[in-house]
Amino acid sequence: MHSIFVSDLHLTPDRPEATERFFHLVTDVAPRAAALYILGDLFEYWIGDDDLDDPFNASIADAIGSLAARGVPVSFMQGNRDVLAGAGFAVRCGAKLIPDPTVLDLHGARTLLMHGDTLCTDDVEYQAFRVYAHDPANQRRFLSQPIAARREQFTGLRAESEKSKKSKPAEIMDVTTGAVEQSLREFGYPRLIHGHTHRPARHVHVVDGRACERWVLTDWYGRAGYLRCEAGGCTPVSL
Ligand code: MN
Repeated sequence: MHSIFVSDLHLTPDRPEATERFFHLVTDVAPRAAALYILGDLFEYWIGDDDLDDPFNASIADAIGSLAARGVPVSFMQGNRDVLAGAGFAVRCGAKLIPDPTVLDLHGARTLLMHGDTLCTDDVEYQAFRVYAHDPANQRRFLSQPIAARREQFTGLRAESEKSKKSKPAEIMDVTTGAVEQSLREFGYPRLIHGHTHRPARHVHVVDGRACERWVLTDWYGRAGYLRCEAGGCTPVSL
């Protein structure tokens, strides 16, 4: 019995190799798992669940749906790129929408799941944007626009974000130890699995004398993989 975790695939028609690997994961790998968890940024961007008629979006959702139909429970957590992927998307995929953070008993080990962006507290500018992007009124206003207008805004926003990333020191976009430790304390010293930073690794944090494992999931830019967790522990696997 094992479960599979992925995040930061950033799927887009522009990077077909990542999409191919994702289809391989859901059709050949994940059917043997007890569960698949997608911890955000499945898509490069998501402009609303009414864009599911787009053939690319539909192909991804339906691939996940086929896995769910084979009896593998799929859980989806929003990332920062797909914060607007909601109930409509989840229903189409047969997936369960899970909040960030989510804590669960994973094959006997208390485990905390997050996308990871809330842990990057040194990036004040990003955290301010996150508050804006999560505001229901702002989301409603955005979603009330035609699909074409929304898509245009997102591509503009991404160009801005790429520019701002280049001008920021690298360490500001990593998690801060204080934020990690606070979450570990708050949730009772669990194992933590998250993505977002594109710095796949295993860390150990000693908090109040308790050792907590922190797994950072790989992104799918020029590489791809998942974290496989079973009763004995977790192992990163490349695709
Ligand atoms: Mn992210």
